[in-house]
Amino acid sequence: MHDVLIIGAGPAGLSAARWCDELGLDTLVLEHSEEVGGQLLSIHNPIENYLGIHPHNGRELRDHFVEQTKDCEFDLWTNVEITSVDLKAKRLVLRSGEELKSIAIIIATGLRRRKLGIPGEDEFIGRGMIESSGDRQAFAGKDVCVVGGGDAAAENALLFAEVCPTVTLVHRGKKLRARREFAEQLHTNHCITVFPESVVHRIIGHEGVEAVEIERAGAIKPFQMAVQGVIVRIGFEPNSERFRDQLKMDQDGYVLVNGVQETMLENIFAVGDVANPLSPTISSAVGGGATAAKVIASRLGR
Ligand SMILES: Cc1cc2nc3c(=O)[nH]c(=O)nc-3n(C[C@H](O)[C@H](O)[C@H](O)COP(=O)(O)OP(=O)(O)OC[C@H]3O[C@@H](n4cnc5c(N)ncnc54)[C@H](O)[C@@H]3O)c2cc1C
Repeated sequence: MHDVLIIGAGPAGLSAARWCDELGLDTLVLEHSEEVGGQLLSIHNPIENYLGIHPHNGRELRDHFVEQTKDCEFDLWTNVEITSVDLKAKRLVLRSGEELKSIAIIIATGLRRRKLGIPGEDEFIGRGMIESSGDRQAFAGKDVCVVGGGDAAAENALLFAEVCPTVTLVHRGKKLRARREFAEQLHTNHCITVFPESVVHRIIGHEGVEAVEIERAGAIKPFQMAVQGVIVRIGFEPNSERFRDQLKMDQDGYVLVNGVQETMLENIFAVGDVANPLSPTISSAVGGGATAAKVIASRLGR
């Protein structure tokens, strides 16, 4: 039996854990991945907008967070898979069979990249499906397809065009949603071709990605285009499905919380991006974690 179980060790979960520790709460943090840090591990550029520090990338900021929690007494378990959750009873069961109970639970499970859900997408992970622009040197000299029409897709197309002979950006809409400066650069970059009103149906290959099947509006039938890499940037979705039947959520699956991060259930809190579609930022995540910890501590008289 713990005072607090925290699910997720991104900025929100780590901040909550740091504050719970300071407030004398017996706390266990459960992280699904091997490493803590959440989305910070995908930020490869300098972070300019988190006050107090100017890290070169997200990993560096993550390392500072870890450094600041190293003397804390909370427990942290990584590589954990939660197989069942009963939020009302504040009871979790892990893949290992272990059953955990607590007085309060803080959900800090963040977001994941949305997938296309098409054949080949999972099959070619690590064999041509590109996770991160940080991997682009591995695709130098290769042809790449970027799927998506927003800022992230445009930014990736521009980054890959620095090292790839051709980059094809495929998006559903008539017009790009990316900010104007990106859109202008896309249209003037001779390596980049933009296919609007187009959909990728299939990723094809053997040992690795060899082609994508694309359907373009007005075309009679889909065609195949040879590429060796595919990067999908079509937005994010909250990691909340495990709590779907037990909490109120908005139509996109973001957990609804009140002004102190509490869900519809007493002593069940949701912090960070999973509960914050309007401000998915490190600052908001860290602040939300602190708020939940303070409220729990005051209720427990600490
Ligand atoms: C490319 C990129 C650039 C960004 N740049 C900035 C920026 O410049 N400034 C800024 O403020 N923000 C930026 N962000 C956003 C910022 O990273 C997020 O707002 C922040 O990481 C949210 O923290 P979080 O803890 O809520 O969620 P996350 O960082 O998503 O962490 C959630 C954690 O929960 C874990 N988890 C999920 N499900 C489970 C489960 N069932 N059991 C156990 N653990 C689970 C995940 O593995 C993860 O470790 C950027 C994000 C990206 C991807």
